[in-house]
Amino acid sequence: LISNSLAVVDIATTLHPNTNLRQHERTGPLVIDRGDGIRVYDDRGKEYIEGLAGLWSVAVGFSEKRLADAAYKQMLKLPYYHTFSSKANEPSIRLAEKLIEMTPSNLTRVFYTSSGSEANDTIVKMVWYMNNALGRPQKKKFLARTKGYHGITIASGSLTGLPGNHRDFDLPAIPVRHLTCPHFYRFGMEGEDEAAFTARLLAELEAVIAEEDADTIAAFIGEPLMSAGGVLPPPAGYWEGVERICRANDILLVSDEVICGFGRLGTPFGCQKYGFTPDIMTLSKQITSSYMPLAAVVFSEAIYDAIADNSEKIGNFGHGFTASGHPVATAVALENLAIIEENDLMGNAVRLEAQFQAGLKSFADHPLVGEARGAGLIGALELVSDKNTRKPFEKIGRAGALASGIGHDEGLIFRAIGDQLALCPPLIVTSSDISEIITRLGRTLDRLPAAIAA
Ligand code: PLP
Repeated sequence: LISNSLAVVDIATTLHPNTNLRQHERTGPLVIDRGDGIRVYDDRGKEYIEGLAGLWSVAVGFSEKRLADAAYKQMLKLPYYHTFSSKANEPSIRLAEKLIEMTPSNLTRVFYTSSGSEANDTIVKMVWYMNNALGRPQKKKFLARTKGYHGITIASGSLTGLPGNHRDFDLPAIPVRHLTCPHFYRFGMEGEDEAAFTARLLAELEAVIAEEDADTIAAFIGEPLMSAGGVLPPPAGYWEGVERICRANDILLVSDEVICGFGRLGTPFGCQKYGFTPDIMTLSKQITSSYMPLAAVVFSEAIYDAIADNSEKIGNFGHGFTASGHPVATAVALENLAIIEENDLMGNAVRLEAQFQAGLKSFADHPLVGEARGAGLIGALELVSDKNTRKPFEKIGRAGALASGIGHDEGLIFRAIGDQLALCPPLIVTSSDISEIITRLGRTLDRLPAAIAA
C-alpha cells in the first residue's frame, strides 16, 4: 500500500495530531501536494474537492496568488518585528484598525496571537488580570458548553467540552463549568419542543450561576454555532437568553468566532446571525484563509481600560508572544480581507446557503442519516445505526471513518467527527461546485451501507 517514499518517511518521523497512529502506520498519510481553487491534489495527482476548506479555514481557496504576493512583499520590506514594549509595525496597525471597523461597535481593541488556542488562552488571562485589577480576584470561573471547542492548550483545552480532549490530560485545569450542549436533536428530551429546550438550557444557566455565585464567575464562552463538536446550530432564542442572563449577572460574554467569523454563516460574524453582542471575540482561520498562522482577540474599551489603568499599578500585562502582530501574517490578513470584500464572499455564503443546506437535507431520508443540519456554508450529516430511535453506532467513529475513506475515493474531503460528517467548503465555492460536492457526497453515502456491513 505504501509505495511512496514521502509516505514512508512521514510514517517513520511524525506524530500526527488527532490520528489513530497505528492505523496510520499501516495505511500511510494522504500527502497533499498542491492546491487549485476549492480543489487539492495528492502526490499521485488525484483530485479532491476540499469540502472542509482545510480545517474550516481556507476562505479564498488554495491558489490565491495575491496572498503569496502580499507575503513576499512584506518579507522583503520587514519580514519580522514584534509588538512588545511599545513596538509596532504597519500591517498589524492597519489590521487592528480594520478588525475594529468590521466587528460590532463596542469592540475597540485588538490583541494578536498565532492560533485560536492562544487567543482563547489570552482571554482567560486577560479576564483574570482585569478582575484582579478591579479588586475581585475571586471572579475567575468560566462557563462553557459540552461539545464546545475552544482549542487544545491547557487553558483553552479546559474550556473545550469534548471528553477526548480532556481524558488523559487532567483537564480541565482552570475553573470551568460545562453546561448542556444546545443541540436539540441529541439533547432535547422526550416530549420537549425546541422552545422548551431553550427555556430548559437558560434555566440551567441561571441555576448554575446561583449555585456557583455570580461573584465567582468571570465569563461565558461559546461558539455562535458549535463546529468541531459536530456542526450544531443553536435553538431559537438561545443566544438572546444567554446574553440577557450574562448581563444581569455581570458575566462577560465571549464569542469564539474562530470558525464562524468572516462570513461563514452569511453574516460577517456569527454573533450577528444569532443576535447577540459579545464583550470579547476571538478570531482566526479565515482571517488569513490560514495562509499564515494568525489569531486576534477583539475586545471592549472597558476591558482595555481596566487592564491599562492597572498596568502601572500592578505591573505590565505580562502576556504576549514572539509572533504577536507578526507583520507578514497581518499583511496577508489585510489582503485576504480585501479579497473577501472585493469578491463579496460573505454575500456568496448568503446566496448559496439555500442550495447547500437543501443539498445536505436531501440526504435526510437516507437510512443511515439521523440529522442533516447547518447554517450558511457549514453543515453536517449525523450517521446513526437506527434512524427512528436516533441510536448511535456501537463503535463510535467507525462509520465516520469508513465514510471519510470512501469520500476520498470519490474525490471529496470532509471531516468525520465521530460519526458526524462535517462540510465547510471554501467561501469561493460556486453553485456548480456545490452540486458536485453533493453528488460526490451522495455517491459516498450510496457505498457506505455495504462498507459498514463488511
Ligand atoms: N476555537 C474554535 C471555535 C475552533 O474551531 C478552533 C480550532 O478549530 C480553535 C478555537 C483553536 O484554534 P487553533 O487550532 O488555531 O489553536
